Amino acid sequence: MAFRARHLLGIEGLGPDEITSVLDLADNYVDLNRQDVKHDTALSGLTQINMFFENSTRTQASFEIAGKRLGADVMNMAVDSSSVKKGETLIDTALTLNAMHPDLLVVRHPHSGAVSLLAQKVNCAVLNAGDGRHEHPTQALLDALTIRRAKGRLHRLTIAICGDIAHSRVARSNIWLLSKMESRVRLVGPPTLMPSDAADWGVEVYGDMAEGLKDADVVMMLRLQKERMDGGFIPSEREYFHRFGLDPAKLAHAKDDAIVMHPGPMNRGVEIDGTIADDINRSVIQDQVEMGVAVRMAAMRLLAENLRADRAEKASLKSVDA
Ligand code: ASP
Repeated sequence: MAFRARHLLGIEGLGPDEITSVLDLADNYVDLNRQDVKHDTALSGLTQINMFFENSTRTQASFEIAGKRLGADVMNMAVDSSSVKKGETLIDTALTLNAMHPDLLVVRHPHSGAVSLLAQKVNCAVLNAGDGRHEHPTQALLDALTIRRAKGRLHRLTIAICGDIAHSRVARSNIWLLSKMESRVRLVGPPTLMPSDAADWGVEVYGDMAEGLKDADVVMMLRLQKERMDGGFIPSEREYFHRFGLDPAKLAHAKDDAIVMHPGPMNRGVEIDGTIADDINRSVIQDQVEMGVAVRMAAMRLLAENLRADRAEKASLKSVDA
């Protein structure tokens, strides 16, 4: 089987074959999700816990729907009213939940690396739903599925990722994925929002939208991650929109059939003009949301299969020992 991972912590550790196997399975779930009856039993009997230490709309809702459609028992931990507020550490919270025998733990945390740390302490499959500015693997996978369905392939495309690259986990996961699938990635944004080592990432870096978008197949816009900024990174939102906000004039530099993406939440009039976000001929933003449920179903199913195989192997080793 192509998908070998025990956890889904980032795109960095996945091979192109593993990425393709998630996307192929997700394609089937897109079909299932368009039926009246959307149930499958792939996770039946398993317990999924969602722990979100940062705000989320799309990711949390789609992980919950994905788990329920596959028959898992899904619990959303209400972090705001949990003992985290009484000073319990992330690891202690994780160990407490681990004692309840979950099978899948979906975690979002403001600190880069926190989800990997937690994965070392528990006996179940862990999915990273976004850790600081580090990675957001299911976002990159759903973006890839959206692109593959719109363009028919993931290789030899030119993809411009624009805006606040420095603070974006979406950018990092997408750069890993699109490079592994042999597409050309351009990063476009002001120098204050560009990581200082971006030029070493195997991407092209642009400070001007007209140049960066020239002949692009895909234009991916990012939100200004103000929650991760500790100072003034832009002169004003108005000035930022003028230079880096996607409007019809800037989009005209991309290919005529270029698609426009945004992971959400969007700030209209800051990084994207509302008319473009709503243009059904260019914007695939709602498709991204739809693909999000299918990709999360696929990822959880593949991890559950590996978890079951792992447990069966351990059980048989134990019986040999006995
Ligand atoms: N929803 C995405 C994330 O969690 C993008 C964003 O918040 O701007 O990283």
